[in-house]
Amino acid sequence: MSNKIEGGCQCGAVRYSSSVAPSITFNCHCTHCQMASGAAFTTAVAVPQGTTEITGSTMVHTLASDLGTPVHRHHCPTCGSYVYGISEGFGATAFNAVTLDDPSWVKPEIEVYVSSAQPWAHLQPDLPKFDQLPPMGEDDSSL
Ligand SMILES: [Zn+2]
Ligand SMILES: [Zn+2]
Repeated sequence: MSNKIEGGCQCGAVRYSSSVAPSITFNCHCTHCQMASGAAFTTAVAVPQGTTEITGSTMVHTLASDLGTPVHRHHCPTCGSYVYGISEGFGATAFNAVTLDDPSWVKPEIEVYVSSAQPWAHLQPDLPKFDQLPPMGEDDSSL
């Protein structure tokens, strides 16, 4: 099974691919992810910004991260799927893992923003958990 980053929205109007391996894959329990996806959390496959090819126009909702930097959430304007987010603070594009053509290889490595996790969400017992984001160096652009 190849860990291919290739996918798109439910109706096919938005398509994406990236040729690099994910820098990190994580479950995000932040309220923004919950509202964007309509689920208890999102699983995100993050790659460095600029390593992606994206076609189709998107509806963009921009929010401030709690670092104060903008996060642009891209939805398909036709089917509404939350497809990806771009975090300016981390210089990363995070694809919503469920929009991959084949999400079966995805293995979340950490869980973030568990401070806002829903009490009915299932957290994976073996994964490192962080109330917000994990501590990281100034030049770490992995999330
Ligand atoms: Zn669509
Ligand atoms: Zn989130």
